[in-house]
Amino acid sequence: MTLSKLNKLIIDCRQCERLVNFREKIATEKRKQYIDEEYWGKPITGYGDEKAKLLMVGLAPAAHGGNRTGRVFTGDKSADFLFKCLFEAGFCNQPISVDKKDGLLLDNLYLTTALKCVPPGDKPTSLELKTCFNYFNKEINSLKNIKIILALGKIGYDACINYYKQFFNIKNKDYNFGHGSFNQLPDGKFLVGSYHPSPRNVNTGRINKTKMIHLLKKVKKELDFL
Ligand code: SF4
Repeated sequence: MTLSKLNKLIIDCRQCERLVNFREKIATEKRKQYIDEEYWGKPITGYGDEKAKLLMVGLAPAAHGGNRTGRVFTGDKSADFLFKCLFEAGFCNQPISVDKKDGLLLDNLYLTTALKCVPPGDKPTSLELKTCFNYFNKEINSLKNIKIILALGKIGYDACINYYKQFFNIKNKDYNFGHGSFNQLPDGKFLVGSYHPSPRNVNTGRINKTKMIHLLKKVKKELDFL
């Protein structure tokens, strides 16, 4: 299946009742500062360079970020942080990601999430993750040039391992998650861990721009040899 066909299916999806209700409730109630905007309020697809060697996997769209703007990592604080770092490391043409018309282009990078709808409290159920995995699975299958998968947060990391479990006898315990962890996958690709660039992690100093840019530059260097 092509990515564009897959993305159409994703956008129309209403399989998880709790998430459908939540994403639409947010889109109706809105945050005060965006009260005059029309929220997207639907599932979010991946975005970027379909021939990329680097795939980045987050958890899910943010309530007033992707769920508002209709593009992954767009229009919220996580996006502000991430795109400053991605720009610095040379993976995009500008340091901002604010809305679909902002001119953002990703270079050698495809960005997606393990779950395509915003979950309450950023906590999806295991059934929701399992249901949406079907799309994540097809998405990875469509991205033929991927050499490194960089997971932003543990849930995205585990979704990547689950993808590989379909084809190889691997165990989660053999893949240690941490900021900057590099693990080779059974097919020769690499799975890299990173703390999620959420305001909580940034504000507590768990992640900062120096650490993130350092990791992204290291990944970029590795990609030159893959
Ligand atoms: S989380 Fe995934 S499977 Fe569930 S409704 Fe959204 S797109 Fe569909």
